[in-house]
Formats: sequence, structure tokens, C-alpha cells
Amino acid sequence: MRQGLGINNYYTKLNLLKNMPFKAIPEIGEFGLINKIAALAAPTLAAVPELLTGIGDDCAVFQPSAELLQVSTTDILAELVHFDLMTTPLKHLGSKAISVNVSDICAMNALPRYALISLAVPQSFPIAMIEELYIGMSHAAKEYGLAIAGGDTSASRSGLVISITIVGEVSPEQLTHRSGAKPGELLCVTGSLGGAAAGLKLLMREKEIMLNHIENNEPYTKNVMADLKEYSEAIQQQLLPLARIDIIRYFHSKNIHPSSMIDISDGLSSDLKHICHKSNTGALIHENHLPIHSSTRRIADELQDDALTWALTGGEDYQLLFTIPREKYQIIADTREISIIGEITDPDSGVNLCDRYGMNIDLASISGFDHFSS
Ligand SMILES: [Mg+2]
Repeated sequence: MRQGLGINNYYTKLNLLKNMPFKAIPEIGEFGLINKIAALAAPTLAAVPELLTGIGDDCAVFQPSAELLQVSTTDILAELVHFDLMTTPLKHLGSKAISVNVSDICAMNALPRYALISLAVPQSFPIAMIEELYIGMSHAAKEYGLAIAGGDTSASRSGLVISITIVGEVSPEQLTHRSGAKPGELLCVTGSLGGAAAGLKLLMREKEIMLNHIENNEPYTKNVMADLKEYSEAIQQQLLPLARIDIIRYFHSKNIHPSSMIDISDGLSSDLKHICHKSNTGALIHENHLPIHSSTRRIADELQDDALTWALTGGEDYQLLFTIPREKYQIIADTREISIIGEITDPDSGVNLCDRYGMNIDLASISGFDHFSS
């Protein structure tokens, strides 16, 4: 790339040179792009009958033997798209990079086994910072019983990029897909929602303050984390989310088999629509039943924002959204970490939110996070 030519301008010029039709990714969005990739990958599937699930779920599923299934997932974290080093400690980033992948393994009702980690690193990046990153990764991996088994490193000309692949295992009986929900079943979610979005808003506010100091040549000596102590819960949910492996272990110990499951990475609204689309159902969720932490509501009030919108579309909560038959209610009724937020309906009913006034709102119009928008 010639000096001074920004990367986006570079692609425009390249496209003209190659005489290809120009359509930028935001015109079709992240899911439009995934559909195009899936269509191009489809012809490769026939050669591998042991591949039970390809693109379109939280993990690919491969069957090496009759007793055990292998599940695998991969995720990229790109600087200034997924994280901002101005507000993200590297140990936290390393831990989060592992957790977001483990979350996808959990969404299949599986347990993680090993990880491959690839990094593209700017040349000026200090080695000590890479070590910090790996300390965070290693710590999280230990928590999840996961081995870091290999990877690759490369130079980067546009910020730090972390790509992680995790392979996990599950028995054929326990495997859970996004499909499988049936009308009448209960819709459940773990933990609380909207906290990660609240944390992100606070960190963005703090970043603005830092940038103002820099622009005005004023020293910025505050310790960001110490300064945000009163918001530590939301900040933690943003910077250090934990995959709900505790819930998967609980399911296995109690012999609970969700009929469908997904992890909430893009926001409840978007991820619920994936379950409904794959299961060919509708759903009705109740605003009053959504687990939104009081600290999230307090932060929303303070920032004059809306905690419900954060819960529906904020994303990055990495909680599990799943369905179970109504007769299984008693098994999960006493678990504080699980909330029943609604039920699965027939497909013609659509995907709706019953608000606190009893009005039904169509969630089709509300979408979650798209990495290619903005
Ligand atoms: Mg997922």
C-alpha cells in the first residue's frame, strides 16, 4: 500500500483496477456476508459425511466416533472493532478472547478441550504487552480446563488482531443446536442482560475524557479502573465476561437437555431470532421477566439511556439463551442463575416482546450488533 493512501481508499482503487462490481459489506451486513460464504463453502461438505453441522450454528460438529462428537469454533477480535487498548487491560483482553470462544462451545452444551491462538501484531507492540495478553489467556484457559495447544503469529499493519479456535467435546445425546425449539416450550436465559453494554458506555465516556486531556495537552494521571470502581460490576461484564461453563456442568450433572441453545453475543433480540429461524418457531418474551441488574438500570438512568435496549441489542453478555419443555420447569425453578423470560410460539406469531404495559412489540424491527455497521 502506498504511503498516505488509507486502507478503505486502497480497496476502492484496487476494485477499479480489477474491474469488479463494487458493493461494500455494510450493504448486505454481517449475516448477508455469512450467507454468501456459506453458499461458497457448501460444495465442500459432501466429501466429509462425518461433519454433522457446518456454518449456521455456534460451532461446527464433527463425529469421529459413535460415542463422542467434536465441536469447534473460531472468533476474531480486531483492535478498534472489538476492543480499544485505551480502555482495555491486556490481561482482561486475553481472558475475554478465550471466554467468547468457550461461550460458543457452551452454546452446543459441550465442554472445551484445546485452543489454537493466532496473533497479528504491530511491530512496535512491546513484548511485555504480548506476555500480559497471554497471562490473561492462560488464566482463563485454566479456569475452563482448556489447553492452549498451538497457533501462529504474524506482523500486522493495522492494529492487533487475535484469532482463536477452540475444539470441544460432547456426547451425541447432549449435543444441542439452535434448532430444536418447539411451540409451548419455556425460553430461559442465564445471568443478567445489558451489563456489558452499560460497561462499554462507561468506558467510552472515560475514553472521551482521556482524549480531551490529550488534545488539550493536559496530563491524564487517573487510574481508569480505580476511577470507575463504583461501576465495577458493569465494567467487569464488558471487560471480563465469563462463559457459562458452570451452567453446562450443571446441565450435565442434572441430566438437563435443552431443546435448543445459543449464547448471547449480539443481543437477546438478534440471538433469539436465530433460535426461532433455525427452529421454525416464533417466540414471546416478557419485559418484566428480563433479568436486568439494578446497577445496569442505574447506569442507564445516569447516562440517559435505556437498559431495555441494552438488554435486547447491546450484545456481549455471553449468557446462554435456551429452551426446555414445560414439564422440565421444576428442574430449573430453584436455580437463581436461570430466568424464564418467555415461551416459544408458532412461527406465524413472529418474535415479540410483551412490554411492561402489556403491549406486544415486534422484535423483527430491532436488530443486534453488526460488526460491519458504522
Ligand atoms: Mg455464538
